[in-house]
Amino acid sequence: MSNGKEKIAIIGAGLGGAVAGALLQHAGFDVNVYEQAPAFSRLGAGIHMGPNVLKIFERIGVDKKVIGISSTPSHWFSRDGITGEYTARVPLEGYGQTYCTVHRGDLQAIQCDALQPGTLHFGKKLARLDDSGTDVLIEFEDGTSIRADIVIGADGINSRVRETLLGQEKPNYSGWVGHRALISSDKLKKYDLTFEDCVKWWGPDRHMMVYYTTARRDEYYYVTGVPHPAWEFDSAFVDSSRDEMAAAFEGYHPIIQALIESTDGVTKWPLFNRNPLPLWSKGRLVLLGDACHPMKPHMAQGAAMAIEDAAMLTRCLQETGVNDFRTAFGLYETNRRDRATRVQSVSNANTFLLKQEDPAWVYGYDIYAAPLKSETAA
Ligand code: FAD
Repeated sequence: MSNGKEKIAIIGAGLGGAVAGALLQHAGFDVNVYEQAPAFSRLGAGIHMGPNVLKIFERIGVDKKVIGISSTPSHWFSRDGITGEYTARVPLEGYGQTYCTVHRGDLQAIQCDALQPGTLHFGKKLARLDDSGTDVLIEFEDGTSIRADIVIGADGINSRVRETLLGQEKPNYSGWVGHRALISSDKLKKYDLTFEDCVKWWGPDRHMMVYYTTARRDEYYYVTGVPHPAWEFDSAFVDSSRDEMAAAFEGYHPIIQALIESTDGVTKWPLFNRNPLPLWSKGRLVLLGDACHPMKPHMAQGAAMAIEDAAMLTRCLQETGVNDFRTAFGLYETNRRDRATRVQSVSNANTFLLKQEDPAWVYGYDIYAAPLKSETAA
C-alpha cells in the first residue's frame, strides 16, 4: 500500500457513509468514499438528528455547525390529527446534546465537508466486488477499479454490497408512502394559527410529521405516512399534488389544511423495509445503515442508526486495527444488532411518542459510554 496503511473503501456517501468516512479518518485510517451520484443537490426534505447523533457529530467537530443551521425544538408534540388534542408532550432537552431538525441537503453538505479533501469521489457507481481473500477488487460502472483491504457498504436500501453478501432480493414494500413538502414560512403568516416547532399529527391509519428545517425557521416541512396499496413506479419517488394531499387528509385539523393549501410542490416516496439480515459482514465486506437494517422512517431514527453504526464500527476497528477486521466486524455486530433491531421494529410499528413516554433509551444513548461487549459475552 502506497503510504503503508491498510485501505478502507466506503461505498455510498449518504448520511451514514459520509460520517463513517470522517470518523475513520479522524481515527487515523486511510479511507476513501465512493458515491454513485455525480453531485449532491438540495432535495426538498428535512430530517431529525437527535442528541444520540449530535454526540457522534462532536467527534468530527461538526456538532456546532449542525446546531447553527438547525431548528432546535424543545418538545415533540403528538396531536390527534382531527381534534388537535395533545396525546404527548415529550421534552427533547436533557439528553446530553441538542435535538435538531434540519434540511437534509444542508446536513449532508456539512457531513461531506468533514471528509479529508480529495477522499470523496462522485460519479463512482459500484458495479462489482471481488473479495479475493487477501484484498477486495472494486469495479465501478465507469470502467475504473480500485483495491482495498476492507469495504464498508453504506449504499442504502438497494445496496449492491448487501447483494454481494446475501444475493439479490428486493426490499419489502410496506404498503405506505411518505409525502414530502417544504413550505416557505412566509406563506403561513396569513393564518391565525400556531405552527409548532416539531409536531406529529396522528390519524387512525396515517400521520403527518411537521417541523422547521432551518435555524431562521423560514422553511417548514411535512412528511407523511399514508397507506397506498402498491408502488407502481420504477423511480425512487414521484410528484404528488395538493389535490392528492387534500384527499388524503380530508376532515383533518385546520392546521393540516393550512399546510396543504400552502404547498407548492410535494413528492411521494414509497416506504420499504427488510427483515433483519442473517449476517452483517462476510470476509472483508461489512454493511451499515439502510444497507443493513432499513426501516419505515416513523421514529425519525433511520439515519441516526446509520450514524451510530458508523461510530461503533470505527470504535471496533480502532480496537483491533484493520488487519484483524474479522474480530472488528464481529464486535461491531455484537454491539449494534440489538439496538438497531429494536429501533427497526418500533419504527416499523409506528408507535413511538404517540403517547407520553420516556425516549431516553433513544436520545440519551451515548455510543461511546459503555465498554465494548465481546462476541462471546453477548
Ligand atoms: P442513504 O442515506 O440512502 O445513502 C446511500 C448512498 O449510497 C446514497 O448516496 C446513494 O446514492 C449511494 N449508493 C447507492 N448505491 C450505490 C452504488 N452502487 N455505488 C455507489 N454509491 C451508491 N432518518 C432519520 O434519522 N431521521 C429522519 O427524520 C428521517 N426521515 C425520513 C423520511 C423519509 C420519507 C424516508 C424515506 C426516510 C427517512 N429517514 C430518516 C431514514 C433515512 O433517510 C435513512 O435511514 C438514511 O438515509 C440511511 O442512511 P444510509 O447512509 O444508510 O443510506
